Order: sequence, then structure tokens, then C-alpha cells
Amino acid sequence: MNLHEYQAKLLFSEYGIPVSPGFPANSVDEAIKNAGTLGGKGWVVKAQVHAGGRGKAGGVKLAHSIEQVKEFTQGMLGKRLITKQSGPEGNPINCVLIQSMSDIESELYLGMLVDRGKRRIVVMGSRAGGMDIEEVAAHEPEKIFTFFVDPIMGLQEFQSRKMGFELGLNDKQRKQLVTTLRGLYALFVAKDLSLVEINPLIITKSGDIEALDGKVSIDDNAMYRQPAMEKWRDESQENEMENIAKRFDLNYVALDGNIACMVNGAGLAMATMDIIKLHGGEPANFLDVGGGATKERVAEAFKLIVSDKKVKAILVNIFGGIVRCDLIAEGIINAVKEVGVNVPVVVRLQGTKVNEGKELLNKSGLKIISADDLTDAANRVVAASKGGN
Ligand code: GDP
Ligand code: MG
Repeated sequence: MNLHEYQAKLLFSEYGIPVSPGFPANSVDEAIKNAGTLGGKGWVVKAQVHAGGRGKAGGVKLAHSIEQVKEFTQGMLGKRLITKQSGPEGNPINCVLIQSMSDIESELYLGMLVDRGKRRIVVMGSRAGGMDIEEVAAHEPEKIFTFFVDPIMGLQEFQSRKMGFELGLNDKQRKQLVTTLRGLYALFVAKDLSLVEINPLIITKSGDIEALDGKVSIDDNAMYRQPAMEKWRDESQENEMENIAKRFDLNYVALDGNIACMVNGAGLAMATMDIIKLHGGEPANFLDVGGGATKERVAEAFKLIVSDKKVKAILVNIFGGIVRCDLIAEGIINAVKEVGVNVPVVVRLQGTKVNEGKELLNKSGLKIISADDLTDAANRVVAASKGGN
């Protein structure tokens, strides 16, 4: 789960990482009020979306008057921001951060993430901050300094000091970096992060370091023990299909192909995807409705896969071990009636109450292609996806 920049900065403050003061606003009036509260002569209006690259896309504006704060906020709220990272549809801007403007001397990069291969947290720093760090990593990897944290010893201050030298910091800034990294590491561990990035970490004109931007990702597998973070979830910024799936306890992953799969059990789902590929097709998703699928869940799963516009055919592959085939059939029928399906549906049912299930499907009047075994099902669905039968 990702956080907004203003949320990341609240955590930064809590963990002793320097940020310039700012407040989020959901309306123009609130933005003006925030600028007044902050005082000073300059403010930055920043679109709060879960996508980087906002600066280049018009989502970060420097305001030199309250009038400009109003103008920029009006220009952002209610619009969608399309950045290099957002995808073609962009993300909705429902909130802006109004922040005191900082004077920038230089822009650095600081990040921490889990290196799975090394099974350690890796700390990264670079003098080439402010721009796409991925580009720097690809073309000038020597400009990125890294070190690993021993999970038992924890972050060692000599490591942070060494990073300070590599980043060309003076005595005062090195001390600030040590504090910043100490806070960042404590935050990383306490909140079960998978990634934290400060890009740019600036050196201000007065020579102090400050986090100008903040990206925080929390490990999804740890959300159950981060209830306070869960409250910060902003569903408007997330993949709608995956959110619906989560709500109904479905294991769903969107893929690039055009054959949708609805299967019970992760192993069977994998085997189904394999056999589709073996017969020359491409799966549009991984979807495991679970061993104890109810007809409501099956209906939701079906709605989910047909809402994907690239789907050309659907393969339902259910083994009725715990779940009953007639319930699955009812779920499919309800969903098809509710949302309408204009692509071929191949169904392979096997197991408990299979005959009742098949009968329900046959009597439903729906155009469903019945298959007896997995190879037969794969052949039929691949042919159907290519316009045949
Ligand atoms: P991103 O484009 O989504 O990564 O948004 P950032 O928060 O990193 O801002 C993009 C750029 O806007 C920064 O690299 C800065 O150059 C500029 N910027 C952001 N805040 C300030 C500020 O307070 N003062 C000045 N002078 N520039 C800023
Ligand atoms: Mg940035």
C-alpha cells in the first residue's frame, strides 16, 4: 500500500526527519487558509496522487502570492494528473499539499528498500537527485552509493557517516544525515515498509538538509498489523479491479492476455494458465475464487473478469471438492444475467453435484460451451478467443 506525500511527511516529522511545514487541503478555501497559517512569501502547491513525476506533469507549482495558491489549487482539484508513472488514465487529484517554499541549493536522492536476494534492507544515496533515479541506475550506476543493514546489529552510524562523505556533505549536513537515516530506518522497521524514498533530499540555501518529497510503500502482507496505516488508504488512487477483488476475498492479478480464467484453488489456477499457454492462448488474469467459494463470490468474480475490456473468452475451471458445482453454476448464471456477457464462456465443472450444475447451466438459456476435461477446455477457449468455436 502506498501513502500520499503529505502522509509520508507526517511520518517523517514523527521520526525526526526534517521537512518544511505544510498542510493538506481538499478545497480552495482550505488551501488559502493553509497558506495563511504557514505565512511567509512563497508556497508550493502539490497534487497528492500515488504517482511520481508530478513536477514535469504540472502537479507541483511554486506560488508567490495567495492569489497564485488559489489559482493553482483551482487548476488541480477535481482534475486527473497524468504522469510518466500514472498510466494513460492518470490519477484523480482530490487533495493538494500546501507547503512553505524551500530555497534549493542542490538536490540529492535517498532511499531504502528490501533487497530480497540479500535478505537485508539496502540504503541508497546519490548526488543525482531530483530526476528519475531509474535513469541514473541504468546509465550511471556508479553515481549511486549503497550499503546493507545487518538485521541484528541494525543501522550503524559509521555507515551513515560514510554515505555523508560520498554525498559530499559538510560536517553539519553529515550529522543531519545521520539523524535522518536513523529516523528513516526506525520508520522502515516500525511500519513494515517495503520502500521509502526521498527524492529530492535537498540542501537548502542556508546549508541544511530537508526532505522535499516523500514516497512510502507499506508491505501489503503486513497491513493486518498496521491498522493506523490502513486508515490512510486512499482507494481512489488504487487499481479498482484489485480493490474489488480484495473486498470479496478473491485472489486476483491482472495480466496482459485475452482469456479470462475463473478457477478455485491457486494450484489449479496456475495449471489452467499453463494449459492455456500450451495451447497457444494468453491468460488475461490469475483468479482464484478460493476453496470455499460462495455463489455471491463467484458472481463478483465473474463481474470482475467481464469488466476487463480486453477479454475475448472466459474459461471457468472448477473442481467441486469443498465447493458444490451447482452453487458455482448459480453464481455464473446470476452474474451473466446481471452484467451481460458477449464473449464465449467455456465451463469445465467436475466433482460434487456436477450433474446438477451442468443441468442448471443447460437450462439457463445462456450460450455456454461445456467441456469435459482440461485439454478439451483449453482447446475450446483458445479457439473461441481467436474467433472460432
Ligand atoms: P515529483 O515530481 O512528483 O517527484 O515531485 P517533487 O516533490 O519531487 O517536486 C518536483 C520538483 O519541484 C523538485 O525536484 C523541485 O525542483 C521542485 N520543488 C518542489 N518543492 C519545491 C520548493 O519548495 N522550492 C523550490 N524551489 N522547488 C521545489
Ligand atoms: Mg520527487
